[in-house]
Amino acid sequence: MANILDGKKIAAEVREEVKREVEELKARGITPGLAVILVGDDPASQVYVRNKHRACEEVGIYSEVHRLAASTTQEEVLQLIDQLNHDPRIHGILVQLPLPDHIDEKKVIDSIALDKDVDGFSPSNVGNLVIGDKCFYPCTPHGCMVLLERAGIDPKGKKAVVVGRSNIVGKPMAMMLLARHATVTICHSRTADLAAECRQADILVAAVGKPELITGDMVKEGAVVIDVGINRLPDGRLVGDVHFESVSSKASWITPVPGGVGPMTIAMLLKNTVEAARRAC
Ligand code: NDP
Repeated sequence: MANILDGKKIAAEVREEVKREVEELKARGITPGLAVILVGDDPASQVYVRNKHRACEEVGIYSEVHRLAASTTQEEVLQLIDQLNHDPRIHGILVQLPLPDHIDEKKVIDSIALDKDVDGFSPSNVGNLVIGDKCFYPCTPHGCMVLLERAGIDPKGKKAVVVGRSNIVGKPMAMMLLARHATVTICHSRTADLAAECRQADILVAAVGKPELITGDMVKEGAVVIDVGINRLPDGRLVGDVHFESVSSKASWITPVPGGVGPMTIAMLLKNTVEAARRAC
């Protein structure tokens, strides 16, 4: 039976570390600050933003939430970002996605100052990640890397397979594993034989958004399995992209859903915000 990679516990440890770092910075007269922009009234986004604000408060990070009407123009969002880019109280800026259709997401994300892009989604930040330059690691894949690290799993020389190639999870995850010297394969919806690719993996990361797509027969004995997926089933249950029961009988380590990668994402946002404040001083 696999060991459980307990994201809830590790995220709590990270938050405690962040809290101590915030105290140290405050003692030097710097209060890390995060601005979150929410456009429209998507209920899931409202919950995410509320959770981020609360998490900031808990560790002593100054946080302000800009709630804008769904009718807000792109120009108004860009103006707000420009103002926040120049605000010395703000070290990190996060735009909650998705944005309403009339706003160009790429343009908005790209307008965030590189040294305040704590979500790490801007093209320049991603470019720096690819070439191994100073950057912010996007929060979810960063959280996955910290889970590996805290379990003492070194990707060096291992065969890693990432299922999913989104810009916010799959691609940066692959780049981070590569930077840690894994041999990386990225799979997607057009991969010819997903099961065969997955069976090669010493480290398997599923970031697809398809409930229980990865089953025990697709996993090598002793593999480390990280499940990024969060899927709500019609009966209300929350499951990952990995079929926990069949996979956990073969894997050496596995993240549960909920309680695996999910709690790490906000913890890493806090960490990036503190890092941004540190870099600003
Ligand atoms: P996207 O929908 O942006 O990307 C999904 C990826 O999966 C795409 O690259 C797609 O391929 C690939 N894919 C789809 N179907 C298959 C298939 N049958 N076989 C192989 N690959 C497939 O999703 P995200 O990356 O944004 O999110 C992935 C999951 O992670 C979701 O469940 C999401 O809720 C969750 N998530 C969790 C977070 C957390 O904090 N734990 C944070 C962010 C996301 P193609 O490119 O060819 O279309």
